Amino acid sequence: MLGDFLTPQERIDLSPQIADETKTTTCYMCACRCGIKVHLRDGEIRYIEGNKDHPVNKGVLCGKGSAGIMQHYSPARLTKPLRRVGERGSGEFEEIEWDEALGIVAERMKKIRADDPKKLAFFTGRDQSQALTGWWASQFGTPNHAAHGGFCSVNMAAAGLYTIGGSFWEFGEPDWDHTEYFMMFGVAEDHDSNPIKMGLSTLKARGAKFVSVNPVKTGYSAIADEWVGVRPGSDGAFVMALIHELLHADKIDLDYLVRYTNAPWLVIKDPGADDDGLFVRGADGEPLCWDQNTKQIADARLAGVAPAVVGEYTLEDGRTAVPSFQLMADRYLDNNYGPEAAALRTGVAANHIRRIAAELAEAAFDKEIVLDVEWTDWAGRKQDKMIGRPVAMHAMRGISAHSNGFHTCRAIHLLQMLLGTIDVPGGFRYKPPFPRPCPPPQKPAGKPGQVNANTVLPGPPLGFPTGPEDLLVDEDGTPQRIDKAFSWEAPISAHGMMHMVITNAWKGDPYPIDTLFMFMANMAWNSSMNLSGVIDMLTDRNPETGDYKIPFIVYSDAFWSETVPYCDIILPDTTYLERWDAVSLLDRPICSADGPADAIRQPVVEPARDVRPFQSVLIDLGARIGLPGLTNDDGSAKYPGGYADYLVNHERTPGIGPLAGWRGEDGDSHGTGAVNPNQLGRYIENGCFWSHEFPENQRYYKHANKDYLEYAASMGWIGSSDQIVMQIYSEPLQRFRLAARGHGDIQPPEEHRARIGGYFDPLPTWYRPFESQDGGEDEYPFFAITQRPMAMYHSWGSQNAWLRQIHTSNRLYVNRTQAELEGLEDDDWVWVISHHNRIKCQIRLMEGVERNTVWTWNAIGKRKGSWNLSPDAPEAKQGFLLNHVISELLPPKESGYRYSNSDPVTGQAAWYDLRVRLEKAEPGDETSQPQLDTLPSTNNASVGERILRYGARFKPKRPVEPQSGGDGA
Ligand code: SF4
Repeated sequence: MLGDFLTPQERIDLSPQIADETKTTTCYMCACRCGIKVHLRDGEIRYIEGNKDHPVNKGVLCGKGSAGIMQHYSPARLTKPLRRVGERGSGEFEEIEWDEALGIVAERMKKIRADDPKKLAFFTGRDQSQALTGWWASQFGTPNHAAHGGFCSVNMAAAGLYTIGGSFWEFGEPDWDHTEYFMMFGVAEDHDSNPIKMGLSTLKARGAKFVSVNPVKTGYSAIADEWVGVRPGSDGAFVMALIHELLHADKIDLDYLVRYTNAPWLVIKDPGADDDGLFVRGADGEPLCWDQNTKQIADARLAGVAPAVVGEYTLEDGRTAVPSFQLMADRYLDNNYGPEAAALRTGVAANHIRRIAAELAEAAFDKEIVLDVEWTDWAGRKQDKMIGRPVAMHAMRGISAHSNGFHTCRAIHLLQMLLGTIDVPGGFRYKPPFPRPCPPPQKPAGKPGQVNANTVLPGPPLGFPTGPEDLLVDEDGTPQRIDKAFSWEAPISAHGMMHMVITNAWKGDPYPIDTLFMFMANMAWNSSMNLSGVIDMLTDRNPETGDYKIPFIVYSDAFWSETVPYCDIILPDTTYLERWDAVSLLDRPICSADGPADAIRQPVVEPARDVRPFQSVLIDLGARIGLPGLTNDDGSAKYPGGYADYLVNHERTPGIGPLAGWRGEDGDSHGTGAVNPNQLGRYIENGCFWSHEFPENQRYYKHANKDYLEYAASMGWIGSSDQIVMQIYSEPLQRFRLAARGHGDIQPPEEHRARIGGYFDPLPTWYRPFESQDGGEDEYPFFAITQRPMAMYHSWGSQNAWLRQIHTSNRLYVNRTQAELEGLEDDDWVWVISHHNRIKCQIRLMEGVERNTVWTWNAIGKRKGSWNLSPDAPEAKQGFLLNHVISELLPPKESGYRYSNSDPVTGQAAWYDLRVRLEKAEPGDETSQPQLDTLPSTNNASVGERILRYGARFKPKRPVEPQSGGDGA
């Protein structure tokens, strides 16, 4: 039949109308802050697309970003303010109105402020409004504030800021377009995500070499040209061996070192003296060097001197001094830092270390890049080209989360300095507002006498100490902060020590607090070490009074996380698509190395729940408490329009506010300028971001580029346009060491002296991570670490029905060869035992992991009933958390004192120091352990419907109503 052979006419609509409105905003499914376009239909989110015009992602959208829909419609969303009515942990709450909730909190905080402001501890998680929260804490008058940086990556931040005036992660980036050799240390897949993926694809397209140093070969390591499977915590030894090799081969950029670092600065060599190891300084405090032209001591900052970098010189007072470079070279030329010693520590063969050093030297010196771009150096000298050494490095938590991470990160920056690759074509590049002076001049406030009733703190709670006089301790050395940050326990804890807040508050050490106020910090689960212990502390009562030892806990979160049931008042937050926000230059902006940028979030949809954005709540609370910066003279609220009002009208200093774009009454200036009432509208017109491109002559050598430095000073990023000198030798560290050796007015208590004296080394040093010392490695032969999956950022994806399909449970990954030696097979259940605790989980064998290392995905394991998941959800039954076997305290010293499980310099939580042994579990029970009691999910709590599917309603031909009642997977 003819009809059988006819091709039916098909009509395919190539451009169906899928949305009736599109709004731009900024993604918040991880910390990268890509620009997105949210397509809406009938007021509901239809889909999310990357914004092609946005400077961060240029249209690229990852799986997390597109799954933001299911975050927004999460079944775990809180819907109403809650007041606890049952025991802490019972999850029994009653719904209350906002006015009542805010009234209760404001009344309590008012009393605290009138009594002793430090009894309020205000800590936030991975939020993006730290410029507001830190300022709010100062207005309140409490020093007890920090965000998550202390348990995230403060080692990276502090080591960078004390060494090069900038740091890795969002504060700098490799020169993706020019680098020939890229080394990445300890970077998980989301640190960062789209920007690194885009950068790596650029690198690979150009054929540049990519070396990944990481104990685990997943994610970025899996696509690297070379994977260096180093032992956890040994990266510093590896890097110092590269330095050893480069020094021996004389493959270093001496000219760069002399011009841009403190290599020539003279260091006093007078053992036992008060100033031993400090820089030789002139009458005005200027650092001095030995000028080879005049054969005299000279100001090291002068452009005309020819400073010596080696030798020993006699000072006017007869003492001797040596250049920093000489001290550095003496250390790393020693065979203790050579490849053979490093091979024993790292597991990387000595010949591989030598080869990599040779490759670095070849890339840096044989592939030199010359850009024909004229620029002017800090001294006003015209340079006719920009010379680049195309080696770039990047590092993140794999380096940071060790008790030796500060020094390891400093060593990586030292390696970059020796190769002359910082902020040059092909190298590691600063993103504005960096570089800043090393370290930045801001000091932490909260010394004795600075915390007073109803008084604003005389500065920010966080900062950068440069000597014992900047510590927050009293005369006998007692810490002044509840987390003991900026004390002798961790003097340079520039981001605070959030992982110690609950333990210290429970103990009342150094003092009891009244209220713990937290925002989006899952401290009763994946953000705490010693998890069961922390839960006990949150519920523990004083036997005499019957009161909770941490009397009052206020928490703001958008979701029913594991932490919510342990709090007394819940202030439900919006999702990121329902709020105003700023990605501010005052906080952690989205700049590129080619220019500054910032961004906003705008409400794309209105909440259909009784929730409020935390930042507006904080501003409202501040007005109710009567904080000076948040009230007018007549006591009325200064920003009655909430966060949007604050973003436009707040000025931190005259002309400088949270947003840098379209300032001035008519919006015709940027950086500084009067308040522009239409500023948010201008951002929206531009896709919710502002950016500025540097002219070509400002793009490199920012630490010494006159035009750049003058621009940065005019923007208020730096105090003056003076050259920023990188510090291979750190004088602030030596000042602490001198105090430990008995010099100066402020000295550590006896019990801390040896520790401060040992770890405050002015040159990068390497020591075994604390859990690998004292024979720990014999009893617990495996390192245990986590990697973060691409599909989830911390626990943020826990309730996301689309992302849960990728990871619903996790395994412990074990090296196949090592497992066979241990008698373990694929799919076995094992006990993972540390010095602190034990957990049970299932293993999977793989080749791509260092033999002594086991690892798992972070934050996949969930507590039963949390996140509105079914108690039978695989996250709870088979998923697990390593946090149970990590202690927040180190074993006691002889004195009985227990230090926190942290880097001794910065207080960074040492998550990756963990050592364990594995024991095969009895067959039968295939459930991970421990299984804590099931949290009630919907009993009294006000949480959203369990939405199983989304989007079917938008299909025109087969309308399907959204279903409810499943467990979200
Ligand atoms: S990389 Fe992060 S910010 Fe960018 S789209 Fe993905 S989740 Fe969103």
